[in-house]
Parts: sequence; structure tokens; C-alpha cells
Amino acid sequence: MADNAQFFAGLDIGGTTVKTVLVDEMGEVAGEMVEVRSHVKEGYESTFCQLEKALDQLTGNIGVGRKSVKGIGMDVPAPSCDGVIWGQANLAGDWVGTNVRDLFSERLGGVPVYMTNDGNAAALGEYAVRKKHHGALLLVAPGTGLGGGLVLPGGRAYEGASGLALEVGHISVPHREENDELPDCSCGLKGCLEAWVSLVALRRRVGIELSKPENASHPLNDGSPLDEKAFRLRDFAQEGDALAISIFRQQGQILGYGIADLVRVFDPGLVVIGGGLAETDFRDQYMEWVLEGFRERAWPMYLSSPVDPEHSTTRFEWARGGDWPAALGVAYSAREMFRH
Ligand SMILES: [Zn+2]
Repeated sequence: MADNAQFFAGLDIGGTTVKTVLVDEMGEVAGEMVEVRSHVKEGYESTFCQLEKALDQLTGNIGVGRKSVKGIGMDVPAPSCDGVIWGQANLAGDWVGTNVRDLFSERLGGVPVYMTNDGNAAALGEYAVRKKHHGALLLVAPGTGLGGGLVLPGGRAYEGASGLALEVGHISVPHREENDELPDCSCGLKGCLEAWVSLVALRRRVGIELSKPENASHPLNDGSPLDEKAFRLRDFAQEGDALAISIFRQQGQILGYGIADLVRVFDPGLVVIGGGLAETDFRDQYMEWVLEGFRERAWPMYLSSPVDPEHSTTRFEWARGGDWPAALGVAYSAREMFRH
């Protein structure tokens, strides 16, 4: 390997693990991906040790020294701006208000570091794996909550003035419960998209539906905790269970509603749906439900062009990055920013 070879590392810092990857100057993944525990609850110093351990493994795997790493991208599960985390999320208190980006860069002898939040990083990863796509990309990813990110044409994430943009889970949707109430959201507001489309929302929905007399004999009414029922709902939907399907169908349609509003603001051309649903057997059906909701609320111009009606103005795709899109995304960004 040439001494002047340049590599760029992507470090995706999560609540329990850090997923890491190295890319070369051409943006190709170099060597094996490495996963280590994150230790984020023990403070940032403890995580830095883990990050260094991962960097040594990544470079060791391809037989180069740490000096070959010319730039680092990292993402954190919290709102951040210019290297500083603004909100605590799942991290120890000392992460907040400290410039962890600069501290980590100093610790590595001045290697430049780019830092962003996990939603932006995942969107960057989806952009990176679509090598032929050069337009914008909007990612919407239902998980425990509902995250997202927007990549601008050319490959930079739109982060907003203070790194607080793209909180897609907390736009409001015109949808009420059967009793006419707006559901509570984890953020303290009511009626957010995330309160309808997330694992948290699924749990609420399952509780409501199973308490109805017509669902009394449903196999999920077996005394198991609500969390477990919400998890098992996916298997039931895969097997064609009517209740499970109706719950996912509502989620999908409301997600489509929300995406229609986001598309009206950003007109991204490509919407990527991420999160665990991308791996389910009924994902094609779920995408149909998303499209049903989208078509109901999107103006015709966001569906197809008047010049060429065959040309759809908003394409929908499932995420392709699997478990590693965020690590890949920040590695690609580091390459874009720090390549000589
Ligand atoms: Zn909210």
C-alpha cells in the first residue's frame, strides 16, 4: 500500500455501540467494518478511548498506520452544532455543551473531524450508496422515534443555522384519535407525526385496539407487556393478521401525509424510507400505504410532471444502507471535506 494513501473514517456513535468504517480516496469501503461498545453514559472520555480502539482496528485490518486517516466523520444521537451537543438524549451529562469534535481532533493530533447528528448521517449514507444519484434526498426513518435528514444536491446535509433542522418527527399532522383527541408526543407537544409513526406510537395504538371488545379474543391479548406486543405486531402483520395490518396501514398512510408536507417544503425528488420496516416481508405493502397517504395530500405536481406524465416528480425508495448507513455517510462526508 502506498505511503501517501488517504483514508477517511466514519464513526457512528449510538447509545450502546459505535459502528465504524474506513473509506479510501475513491469512497470505496476499505477493510472490515468494526463495531465496539460506546460507553456514552460514562462520559465522552470513555467513548474517546473506544473510538481510538476502533480506529486502530480499522487501520490494522488493512495494514496501515493511524496517520493514514486524513479525516474523520462522526455522528451523535443528539442535536449538535459546530461540534457541540445541545441536548442530552442518551448521553452522560458531560457531553452537553462541550466541543467534543475539537477535543477528539486534538486528541488525535489535529486530524480534522466533521460531526453531525444521526439522522443527517443516515441520510448521507443513503446518498453515498446511491452513486448514480446526484439530486437531493430526503430520509424519513421510523424507529423508536421518527428521525430524518435532508441531503442537498452535491452531497452535503442541510443542517440549519444551529444544526436543528429536519426534526421531521415533530411536524403536526391533521389526524385525531377516535375520541377526537390529539395523541401526546414524546417531545411534550401533541399531534406530532412521531406520535403516529414510531415504535412508541405502535405501542399506544396496540393498547387502544386490544382494549376494544371486538379484539378481546385476539392472540395478542395474552397478558404480555405492551412493549412486547408492539414488537410482535410485525410478525402478526407478516402473517396477514387483520388487526396488525390495520395498525400498520394507518401508520403508513399517516407517514405518507407527513411526507406530502415535507415534499411541499423541500421538493427533494427522492424520498428514502429507513428504519426497521425496510427489512420486513410486508414492506412493499407498507410502501403502498405510504403512497396512499401521500397521494391523498400531495398536489398533482408532486406526483408527476405536466410535460411528461410518465415522469414521477417524487420517487420513493427503501433505505439500502442496512445497519451501517450513518457510519458510511459521515465517512463519505469526511472524504468530501478533507481529501487533499
Ligand atoms: Zn413531538
